[in-house]
Amino acid sequence: MKEAKLTLKQQSDQQTVVSISDTVRCGGRELLIVGGPCTVESAEQIEAVASRLSQHPIQALRGGVYKPRTSPYAFQGMGKAGLDILERARNKYGMPVITEVMSVEQLPEVAAQADVLQVGSRNMQNFELLKALGTTTKPILLKRGLCATIEELIMAAEYVMASGNPNVILCERGIRSYDSFTRNVLDLGAVVALKQLTHLPVIVDPSHAAGKRELVADLARAAIACGADGLIIECHPEPEKSVSDARQALSLDDMAALVGSLELIAQAVGRTLPLPVARRAQAAAVCAPAESETALVQFDAVARLAAARANIDAIDQEICALLQKRMACGTEIAEIKAIGDLPVKDTGREVIVLTNVRESASDVEIGLALEAIYKTVIAESVKLQKRVLAESLKLPPQISKQTLHKLSRVRALRPNRIASSTTVI
Ligand code: PEP
Ligand code: MN
Repeated sequence: MKEAKLTLKQQSDQQTVVSISDTVRCGGRELLIVGGPCTVESAEQIEAVASRLSQHPIQALRGGVYKPRTSPYAFQGMGKAGLDILERARNKYGMPVITEVMSVEQLPEVAAQADVLQVGSRNMQNFELLKALGTTTKPILLKRGLCATIEELIMAAEYVMASGNPNVILCERGIRSYDSFTRNVLDLGAVVALKQLTHLPVIVDPSHAAGKRELVADLARAAIACGADGLIIECHPEPEKSVSDARQALSLDDMAALVGSLELIAQAVGRTLPLPVARRAQAAAVCAPAESETALVQFDAVARLAAARANIDAIDQEICALLQKRMACGTEIAEIKAIGDLPVKDTGREVIVLTNVRESASDVEIGLALEAIYKTVIAESVKLQKRVLAESLKLPPQISKQTLHKLSRVRALRPNRIASSTTVI
């Protein structure tokens, strides 16, 4: 494997970012999310998929037009007509398309219309195909072979790179094992290893790994959590009617819910989800006459600012609830001080509180900032205590001994604090 000098990392922080279109990349901070059916079946099907997925954080469409089917009698794909359908959807929705190329002969036709050329599992070691793909500049999505080792996948990538194409994205899609409960075994260990060993982006296909739609979302989330650069997931407007891989196809609603659920996990591992393609187009139209890069960057910034502010608002809510709790303690303290006839303002205690606050901070500057904030908190607490005390002295003109006794327990009234306007009867 040492000889895979183009694929293996030369420095630990080396990371390739593969450009798929003007705005879509794979391998950077933003995750690449790809969705679509196993097979392109009709223009209506792709229209339904693209119009829906463009509303969600999904940048690219998938769909096979040349299908590697186990049986020669099964539907083999729409071929050129399918490519035309994908191309129309790409132009209408601004979503790059990914489709499989199965042979050297198909390459010119597929490369003319697709944005990313997929090498399917069954072709990972079709060395003539890999060499031919190396002569194009199109990004290559190289799927791990059904029974391929990590080293064999790396060497397959090396074939493409050595033939001149550096734009390779690796894809873990599950490997064969003895258990037929899942279609394959999703090897997330391989994802972590490939990220450590190579500088290429690594994405995960949980659909072909699981083979069952109910397993796909959890596996997708696990893939992002372990450092994958993106996902490729099969979905269909009517999953049960899919001409191929129906059992693993998600509905468009489930696909939308799945990508929605990735936000927190992405954040936790320092990644971001893309803006929905439909919102990018609106942003470009609003911010600038052309779809300029600056307008998109600005729109991204506005969206991130809103998310960061929502975070601040939530923290403020927590702080306010705690401050109110603290103030309620102040009321109790005022009453205790009144009973003991102790001074409301206690400078020694204030010094202790301020020192505790300052020393709780991780950094000197922050400690001083917290101390400044707390001086106001203490001043307000003293004001509150004085108000409580004053209120406890407001009595009606006449009060019975029993009431006074009860009040003195709850409101900390001391006989010497009763104004002369109140008579005890
Ligand atoms: C596919 O993505 O449509 C496909 C056939 O996948 P794989 O090659 O991973 O089986
Ligand atoms: Mn499939």
